[in-house]
Amino acid sequence: MDPCTSKCQTPRTAGPTGKACIGVAKAPSADTATDAAALEQQQLHDRLQKIRFKILVMSGKGGVGKSTVAVNLAVALALAGRRVGLLDVDIHGPSIPTMLRLEDAGVQVTDGVVQPVDAAGMKVMSIGFLLQHRNDAVIWRGPMKMGVIKQFLKDVEWGELDYLIIDSPPGTGDEPLSVCQLIEDADGAVIVTTPQDVATADVRRSISFCRQLSLPVLGVIENMSGFACPKCGEVTDIFKTGGGERLATEMRVPFLGRIPIDPAVGAACDAGTPFMYHHNSTVTAKAFGCVVAPILALAECDEAAAPEQAPQADHPSKEKSMRIVIPVANGRLTMHFGHCEAFAVIDVDPQTKAVLKQEILTAPEHQPGLLPRWLAERGAQVVIAGGMGQRAQGLFAESGIKVVVGAPAEAPEALVRTYLDGTLKTGDNVCSH
Ligand code: ADP
Repeated sequence: MDPCTSKCQTPRTAGPTGKACIGVAKAPSADTATDAAALEQQQLHDRLQKIRFKILVMSGKGGVGKSTVAVNLAVALALAGRRVGLLDVDIHGPSIPTMLRLEDAGVQVTDGVVQPVDAAGMKVMSIGFLLQHRNDAVIWRGPMKMGVIKQFLKDVEWGELDYLIIDSPPGTGDEPLSVCQLIEDADGAVIVTTPQDVATADVRRSISFCRQLSLPVLGVIENMSGFACPKCGEVTDIFKTGGGERLATEMRVPFLGRIPIDPAVGAACDAGTPFMYHHNSTVTAKAFGCVVAPILALAECDEAAAPEQAPQADHPSKEKSMRIVIPVANGRLTMHFGHCEAFAVIDVDPQTKAVLKQEILTAPEHQPGLLPRWLAERGAQVVIAGGMGQRAQGLFAESGIKVVVGAPAEAPEALVRTYLDGTLKTGDNVCSH
């Protein structure tokens, strides 16, 4: 094994091979630990603040096409004119360099700042760029993984981005946990599965993982669902399909759609030429387009609700404050989200966790599907609810609003405090209409 992958303790610049190693930083001495940690936290915050949407791509197990989806989702967003970063934190099996034909790419480190690699109109970073040999194995324990992921987020010159797509390794281990801990305002996870029940059982765990960490599930994608004939494009269900959709319905998360098995997808991955970049009019490309649409809508809805376009809305500045909305009755959270009479609107400073402003808004007359748009127009960024239907959750996700369900019937300010501390205890989605 290359020493770079196992022993490197301090950042170093690109070596003679052009490869660089981002190491796990040495622990600071006890008297400077607090200052150093605060500085690091500030640097991380400053870096992440320039990225509008941070989205994890997860799967319950390997081989279901998670990296394929991550690459093509990122490419589709870039093709739609968005500024996109793609971060591969699949530390033990980075496949993004192969999928983008970047196996020989090295990264440059200047004054501790790492330059991402430009490819297919995106900024890309992968642990694969740091390995001197493609087949090197990375043997790292949890804290080391956390350290390198932190550096990927903090020290890489991502610049201003609309989306950072993070390809996470399969399962619910250290890497997705680190990402969720480091990116406190992650916008959600896309979960990739295949139609077979054996794969979907693992996906249940991924959804539970997201719920435990209050990370919204933006939706489930059923990959390898049917076979797209390379000659006529007709999709044939050669195996059982629909597992992903059933699971999404059962777990009350949005279903983003199906992508068929298409030999051109596999060939594009192997050749390092992203499928969406080169095949944009096939049945499979259209299927990718459908699953990407709600993710693209996050930015579109955000822009549509921007202050200059919606002058009537009193929006908080996304950098300085966060607007949390809670359905209330008699001064406490009410379980009946869709039919509640009022909302507590609380603006907080996510850094200091101070409450900046509170008000009660009377809910509009009930109309199916109205609330997500109505709350987006009023600058809501997070909704804390007792229960909410799957369709409403999907609409909120499309509006870029994070939804936390299963919250208890407590006073809104207490809920906000526990939410910001990460100690909010959520249970079942008690009312799904
Ligand atoms: P994971 O990240 O879940 O381990 P990958 O994205 O690496 O999975 O995909 C595994 C293999 O399946 C790759 O060879 C990839 O080209 C292939 N693949 C993924 N999705 C499709 C698809 N829809 N059609 C054909 N091949 C696919």
